[in-house]
Amino acid sequence: MDWTSITFGAFLALVVVFAASSLSLAIIMRQQFLLWMAARCLTIGLLALTFEPAAGALYDNPVQWHAARVFATDLMVSITGPLLATYIGAELGLKKTRILLWSMLPIGVFISLFAGPIADSRALDWLHDLILASLVLALVVGLTNAVRAGSRRAAFQAGAWAPSLAIGFVAFYFELVRMEAMPFYAQAMLIAFSIEFVVTSAGIGDGLVRIEQERDEARAGMRAAVKANALDPLTQIANRRGLVDTFANPKRDRPRGLAVIDCDHFKRINDMFGHDVGDEVLCAVAQGLKHEDVFVARHGGEEFVALLYGPNWLNLAENIRRRISISVLEQVPKLPFPITASSGVAEVTEDDTLDSAIKRADIALYAAKDAGRDTLLVHSPCGTVGPHLLRTA
Ligand code: GH3
Ligand code: MG
Ligand code: MG
Repeated sequence: MDWTSITFGAFLALVVVFAASSLSLAIIMRQQFLLWMAARCLTIGLLALTFEPAAGALYDNPVQWHAARVFATDLMVSITGPLLATYIGAELGLKKTRILLWSMLPIGVFISLFAGPIADSRALDWLHDLILASLVLALVVGLTNAVRAGSRRAAFQAGAWAPSLAIGFVAFYFELVRMEAMPFYAQAMLIAFSIEFVVTSAGIGDGLVRIEQERDEARAGMRAAVKANALDPLTQIANRRGLVDTFANPKRDRPRGLAVIDCDHFKRINDMFGHDVGDEVLCAVAQGLKHEDVFVARHGGEEFVALLYGPNWLNLAENIRRRISISVLEQVPKLPFPITASSGVAEVTEDDTLDSAIKRADIALYAAKDAGRDTLLVHSPCGTVGPHLLRTA
């Protein structure tokens, strides 16, 4: 075995590996361009079989040899059209460019049908080469348009195809103008195709990395949106949706109690100091309600709902209610009088839904307001009672 055979064999192995990889990726990723890449690869392999040293064994007849080479070249060039049309990002539009690229396929396949007859006719051969050169030119135009429109994939492909395009145009110059075959055409093409495989693989790899990045970004965005959807924008604690999700979350313990907490005479704060100060007070109230055994949500307006966990849930309910006054005093010192809140509490039973628990707590809250505000009452089947009267064990 000589070096030419070894290099040639290595090249054919490269063709097979690249075609198989494209095909496998096409099945996994369901991307049409990968099928076209595999098809182009096979036509490159077909063309390579017409080069030395394989050709000698395959074609004794120079006319047949020439016809086979023309046939493989036509198919290879025509396939690059749909390959590029399906490869450049769909978001770019470029409808006319895509039509131009797709039209390469039928024209290329059509002229390939005359590969046999043109081997006998110099004039037909010349016409064929002219049409083929136009197809290659169409590819260059498509490639340029896509790169100018910002297609990163097309930019990679321009790099991948640059060597074979350059050699192709030199070969056309020899065939069309000097009417002779380009010297070292086969060797130059083998090098150009090898470069094409390497750069194309890099381009596909780059595309995969980008898809992964975009997917990660989309997931992070989705998570942030879901989180934001469950958050009250003013106080940055949970809103009604966050409350519903938490109550229904099977991974969390079921709360032992539920408190509905409403600021007393809140309207007065807005009336006397303005809405902005009212907002500051609401933020301070939310801060005051935070506790490790409490999940607190803004239920609307100046009303909050607290899910109470742990055995001391009832004491906890009263503690957080009292902490409201302290928190507002600390965080909104311009207020000349303390803010108080009333709270209605219900024990959460096995059968309770969030709404049924809120409904009972609400009854207790109304009673607390009726009783003069700044107090906590607990709902019980025989009426509402103060926290000291209810046994929580
Ligand atoms: P009560 O003791 O009976 O609860 O009296 P109240 O004034 O607190 O109750 P009312 O329901 O009459 O008024 C609630 C007020 O809360 C009215 C509304 O302007 C105010 N409010 C609701 N949402 C917001 C908000 O996001 N920011 C501000 N600053 N005020 C709000
Ligand atoms: Mg109120
Ligand atoms: Mg209210």
